[in-house]
Amino acid sequence: MQAIATADIHLNALDHNLALVKHLTPETKVLALLKANAYGHGALTVARHLNGSADAYGVARIDEAIALREAGINTPLVLMEGFFSATELPLIIEHNLQIVVHCEYQLQALEALSSEHINALKVWLKIDTGMHRLGIEPELFPTFYQRLKACQSVQENIIVISHLSSSDELQSDVTPQQIALFNDCCGSGDFERSLANSGAIMAWPESHYQWVRPGVMLYGVNPLYPVSIDGVQLRPVMTLRSSLIAVKPIHAGDSVGYGATYTAREDTKIGVVAIGYGDGYPRHAKAGTPVLVNGRKVPLVGRVSMDMITVDLGADSEAKIGDYVELWGKNLAIEEVAENAETIAYELLCNITARVKIDVL
Ligand code: PLP
Repeated sequence: MQAIATADIHLNALDHNLALVKHLTPETKVLALLKANAYGHGALTVARHLNGSADAYGVARIDEAIALREAGINTPLVLMEGFFSATELPLIIEHNLQIVVHCEYQLQALEALSSEHINALKVWLKIDTGMHRLGIEPELFPTFYQRLKACQSVQENIIVISHLSSSDELQSDVTPQQIALFNDCCGSGDFERSLANSGAIMAWPESHYQWVRPGVMLYGVNPLYPVSIDGVQLRPVMTLRSSLIAVKPIHAGDSVGYGATYTAREDTKIGVVAIGYGDGYPRHAKAGTPVLVNGRKVPLVGRVSMDMITVDLGADSEAKIGDYVELWGKNLAIEEVAENAETIAYELLCNITARVKIDVL
């Protein structure tokens, strides 16, 4: 028996979630987000598995893209944050990466690119419709688009995109405003468009256009949690599990863990689980965060340590060393754990550390 925190990666759940994306957006192409090691699931594993079923992959950093290319991934690959300096362009061209262009600085780099790179670059042009992070000002779009088209290095079919700040807030009027501004900017332009992330794929069909960009929903996380959409049953791709490494009877009045933050009101048994913030389990998970021991929900008690957490098994528990513990996944919603740790499921997934064993199923 090995007490090792393990992330089971259920590839059939990934297939199911991608099929749901396609069901919700039947006419669109899919750019699957694989950044941050595919949201902690293993970028290469996911890239290999989705090969042929997604139309393109998106990553944030050039190193992420090159690692995929060097491992033999030939799917179109988009650098979602583009490039940072002109010196990266030769690498981008060499590895056949697509770029997002979102500012004047990048446009000038493309304009200065030598004429030996004719039609070498596929470009996605990003407009800022309200996120105010990346993207050109809407009023600059017509001239910017024309200048980009005039660059010899840029391929003919530029795709125009923007990013939604609040697609997971169904009552907010921010998304309709962003969609309206995007439509205004694009007008009747003869180019493909892309706006929708997971929240918008699920809740804002008017944002689907020709390309959708699912991230977190591919991995089985509902960005609208606790709201659910009829007919959209995502399946968690990752199940994070470990086991009990000790069962300790304690008395009423005894405290548990660093800082003695938890004191038992009655006699009970404490289960010690081999997982901690050194594995990516959230340090700020509150007392009461659910943990499944042998399929039964028990509360986290005491502080999360680097290598261990403690749970209240109850005085009558028959749980023993080696028993199965699920931290999130198939039977325990990661969204619920995230809520208890005052964070989002995205962060929990990305924080899984190298110490966690990955089992691809
Ligand atoms: N598109 C862009 C530009 C993004 O940056 C991201 C992720 O942050 C996504 C799409 C996917 O978002 P989500 O994981 O919410 O689907």
